[in-house]
Amino acid sequence: MAATKPIVIVGGGLAGMTLGIGLRQRDVPAALWEAGHYPRHRVCGEFICGRGQETLARLGLREMLERAGAVGADTAAFFSATQSARPLPLPSRAICLSRFTLDATLAEIFRELGGELWERRRRSDGDAGEGVVRATGRRLQTEEGGARWFGLKAHARNVPLTADLEMHVSSQGYVGLCRVNGGRVNVCGLFRRRAGESVGQQNRRELLRGSIGSPLHQRLASAEFDDNSFCAVAGLSLQPYRAVARVECCIGDAITMIPPVTGNGMSMAFESAELAIEPLVAWSRGEISWAEVQLQIGRRCDAVFARRLAWAKWLQRFLLTPSLQNTLVRFAARNGWFWRMAFEKTR
Ligand SMILES: Cc1cc2nc3c(=O)[nH]c(=O)nc-3n(C[C@H](O)[C@H](O)[C@H](O)COP(=O)(O)OP(=O)(O)OC[C@H]3O[C@@H](n4cnc5c(N)ncnc54)[C@H](O)[C@@H]3O)c2cc1C
Repeated sequence: MAATKPIVIVGGGLAGMTLGIGLRQRDVPAALWEAGHYPRHRVCGEFICGRGQETLARLGLREMLERAGAVGADTAAFFSATQSARPLPLPSRAICLSRFTLDATLAEIFRELGGELWERRRRSDGDAGEGVVRATGRRLQTEEGGARWFGLKAHARNVPLTADLEMHVSSQGYVGLCRVNGGRVNVCGLFRRRAGESVGQQNRRELLRGSIGSPLHQRLASAEFDDNSFCAVAGLSLQPYRAVARVECCIGDAITMIPPVTGNGMSMAFESAELAIEPLVAWSRGEISWAEVQLQIGRRCDAVFARRLAWAKWLQRFLLTPSLQNTLVRFAARNGWFWRMAFEKTR
C-alpha cells in the first residue's frame, strides 16, 4: 500500500465529522480541530431530509443515529399568522435528532475509528494549505440588502403538533416545530431585522412563540422550554456561492448555506463530505495534486447543489414575503403537488 499523508479538518460540525469518519473508514490519518466541544446545543431545525440520508446509510451511520434516538417524520403542515393548513404527507421520510446528540454521536464514532479530535481548539483562518479542509460552517455576514438574519432554537415539552413538521411563517421570519429524541419538540426560527435594530434576550424568546392569536402562539401556549437548550446565531448569509470559486478546500456551509427553510443544510453537509472523500484519499496516497483535489471537490459539489440552491433562493423569497404568505398557505393546502415540487427541487 502507498504511504498515506494525513488530512487536517478544521470544524467538527456535520460536514467535518462525516468527512473524518469517511477518511478513517479508508485508513487515511485524520485530525480534526473543533473550536467548541461535545455535546452542545446548536441552532438548527434538527430535521434531516433528502439525499444526505443515503450518504449516512452508505457510511453505516444511519442505523447508529436511529439507535441514538432519531425520530421519523412523515407529514408536514404550513401556517401563516392567520391561516392553518391540513397536514400533507412528506414525499420521503425525514429523521429528527437533536444536534446535542447527533454531533456528539458522530464525534464518538470518529474517535472510535482512530480519528484525532481536538476540542476547544480554534484554528486561525490563515492556517490553511495542502491537506487542510475547511468545514467551519457558515460565513459571517453582518448585513445583506439592509437586513440581518439570525436564528434561534430551544427545546420544549408539552407542545401538541398536528404534523411531524410544522412550519409557521410570519412577517418576522419563520418557526419550525418537529419532534426530536427524548420526547421534546425542537422550536427553531429564522428571523430578519433591519440593520442596526437590536433584539433583547426576552424579545428573542417571544419571537419564537409567535404573535398573540397566531396558530404558533396557540401551539406553544403550554410549552415548557428547556432553558439550557436555548441558543442563538447571527450574521447568517443566505446568498448562494459556488464551490469552485472558493480559494480553500471547503465542504458544508463553508462553501455556501442553503436557506434553512428548505431543511436541506445538514443533508448538504453530509453529501459534500462524501463527495470529498475520494479525491482526498487519492491525494493522501500521492495520486493527485492538492490543486486537483480542490477542483474535483468544487466541481462535484457545484454539479450536485447548484440547482437546489437556485430553487431555494426563490422559495425563501416567496415564503418570507408577508403579502404572499396567506395565499401560499391556502394554495399549498389545496395543491399538494406544489409542496411536493418545492420539496423535490430543493433536494
Ligand atoms: C435557523 C436555522 C435552522 C436550520 N434548520 C435546519 C434543518 O432543519 N435541517 C437542515 O438540514 N439544516 C438546517 N439548518 C442548516 C444546518 O444547521 C447547517 O447547514 C449545518 O449545520 C452545516 O453543517 P457544517 O458542518 O457545514 O457547519 P456547522 O455544523 O456549523 O459546523 C461548523 C463547525 O466548525 C467549528 N469551527 C468554526 N470555525 C472554526 C475554527 N477556526 N477552528 C476550529 N473549529 C471551527 C464550529 O465550532 C462548528 O462546530 C438550519 C440552520 C439555521 C441557521
